[in-house]
Amino acid sequence: MIFSDVRVPRENLVGKEGNGFHQFMVFFDHTRPHICAQAVGLAQGAMEKAVKHVMERRQFGKPLASFQATRFIIAEMATRIEAARNLYHKAVWLLDQGKTDSKLTSMAKWYSGEIAVRVADEVLQLHGGYGYMGDYDVERFYRDAKIVEIYEGTKEIEKLIIARSILGRVSSTP
Ligand SMILES: Cc1cc2nc3c(=O)[nH]c(=O)nc-3n(C[C@H](O)[C@H](O)[C@H](O)COP(=O)(O)OP(=O)(O)OC[C@H]3O[C@@H](n4cnc5c(N)ncnc54)[C@H](O)[C@@H]3O)c2cc1C
Repeated sequence: MIFSDVRVPRENLVGKEGNGFHQFMVFFDHTRPHICAQAVGLAQGAMEKAVKHVMERRQFGKPLASFQATRFIIAEMATRIEAARNLYHKAVWLLDQGKTDSKLTSMAKWYSGEIAVRVADEVLQLHGGYGYMGDYDVERFYRDAKIVEIYEGTKEIEKLIIARSILGRVSSTP
């Protein structure tokens, strides 16, 4: 959108003049946890679908759930989901107490997006050919997970925020 020669009445100004970028960054501390919740919920839903499938689907005369390779995948995804859930819960807990931690919020946003994509990928794989087909809604989880790494701050931007809070701003010029 391009605005030119637009005059906004003084009473319509949101916040302080010249402070828009800062206000927008504060806004992200409140909105990013919502995206974390979306990512964790999506990953949890996908995992539950996978659990049902591996209990029912039989290959080589046994349920997929009996193979150790399958059990390890389920164990790992359950652990990653729980870690992501706890990360964003801590971020919102601090936010609720007025002790906002933008680094933690960015960690939660990046990590929950990453595990959502990873879990969706593994769930699709556990469904085999069925997972790939549009008739089942498994591939939808994969598509829906990817946006979490893009909007409300891409994963690269989240990592820049985390690194900046640890390393500060390092000048690239000598
Ligand atoms: C479905 C959907 C809904 C959206 N909803 C909204 C919305 O409601 N409100 C809104 O304001 N926006 C919304 N967006 C926009 C979204 O926030 C942007 O797409 C996102 O911020 C990335 O910006 P970009 O697409 O311009 O990519 P670019 O900025 O061109 O980035 C492309 C790639 O380069 C990387 N990159 C860019 N700069 C750097 C850097 N300095 N260092 C390292 N890597 C970098 C990015 O991380 C990314 O991987 C939405 C987008 C989508 C797809």
